[in-house]
Amino acid sequence: MSTNQRRPVFVQKYGGSSVSDAEKIRRIAQKICQRARTGVGLVVTVSAMGDSTDELIALANDVTGPDVAPSLREMDTLLSTGELVSSTLMAMAIHSLGQDAVSLSGQQAGIRTDAMHGSARIASIDSERLSRELDAGRVVIVAGFQGLDDSGDVTTLGRGASDTTAVALAAALGAERCEIYTDVDGIYTTDPRIVPSARKLREIGYEEMLEMASLGAKMNPRSIELAAVYGVPVLVASAFDDVPGTLIHGGEPTMELRRAVTGIAIDKNVAKITVRGVEDRPGVAGGLLQPLADAGISVDVIVQNTSDDGTTDFTFTVSEADSRRALEAVRKQQAVKFRDVTSGGGLAKVSIVGTGMQNGPGYAATMFNALASANVNIDMITTSEIRITCIVKSESVPAAANALHGAFELDRIE
Ligand code: ASP
Ligand code: MG
Repeated sequence: MSTNQRRPVFVQKYGGSSVSDAEKIRRIAQKICQRARTGVGLVVTVSAMGDSTDELIALANDVTGPDVAPSLREMDTLLSTGELVSSTLMAMAIHSLGQDAVSLSGQQAGIRTDAMHGSARIASIDSERLSRELDAGRVVIVAGFQGLDDSGDVTTLGRGASDTTAVALAAALGAERCEIYTDVDGIYTTDPRIVPSARKLREIGYEEMLEMASLGAKMNPRSIELAAVYGVPVLVASAFDDVPGTLIHGGEPTMELRRAVTGIAIDKNVAKITVRGVEDRPGVAGGLLQPLADAGISVDVIVQNTSDDGTTDFTFTVSEADSRRALEAVRKQQAVKFRDVTSGGGLAKVSIVGTGMQNGPGYAATMFNALASANVNIDMITTSEIRITCIVKSESVPAAANALHGAFELDRIE
């Protein structure tokens, strides 16, 4: 065996609620030291303590007043300090336990991004410094959610993006896996607060996890995309309880765990916009939706019906928060004539998700029958290869989710 063979490297991430006070930082530091003593190389990403990012945003808004938005450049440097606080404190806590450790800002960790302040994308990671620190036997604590752009300014990667930092570091270092420690202990078949018989999954594929990202562990979808591209296995587990978590990976599921439907994703706060009497000609859909794209509003389910009089009805969903802006954007656009436009909130998306659905018929029928038996009316339907989504009234969500969970036998998952 060559003497300079690298130790296996693991990347861990601890979320803001796991490092929200000194006591918790000390507990996590102990866990980190225990793991380091097993001889693996350890890189740990931390989020800002508790709600400190929100508090910094509130402070910024207080100093500018309601009519002026804070400068994005200054905002990014400000917000990056939240993770500097938690990472430096974590390094100190580890030192106090007798373990060598070093904290690095995003910049010091070699994370380079584009210049989109507030939602920067990682362009590259120069892992030279990280490797040097690891080789010196140190635990490396990296401030999450930040990097440096080409003009030398600090950027942040978007809310909740410490997950993305962790997965990107794991990819750059060729780590064995990325471990996301959080306040939930894994990915569940559906939201346990809505369906009491929800079960924790031992494993889930990247694609399925992307569809379910609105659930349970609230993982940042970008980090899952990144993990899928680089084939980084991601473990989601509890920061404090020593119970098995969920492994997100791209391999074949083990034989017993192969099943058609893996979970039920629930997304509340959906609104729909209905445009009636739209002239029926090429370019209409693009004409209606372009102003929304320009306003940064993402449109989800889109349904277009033909009607007899040469006009068509066009319905789409947006998040409830975007509903007013979407309505205004449609009203204001000049490209497409229509009779009237209305919006309605109080809707939710309930989806069955599973790669196994690709190869078998009948899942849609089972879903619709289960909803019918629970007396749930379906407003709109949309499908992807691995998902069937029904738009229902928000108040129908518990009935719908429980009926589907039973119909697809998700409560039987071991
Ligand atoms: N502290 C940042 C946020 O609250 C990043 C993160 O938590 O992942 O959005
Ligand atoms: Mg946070």
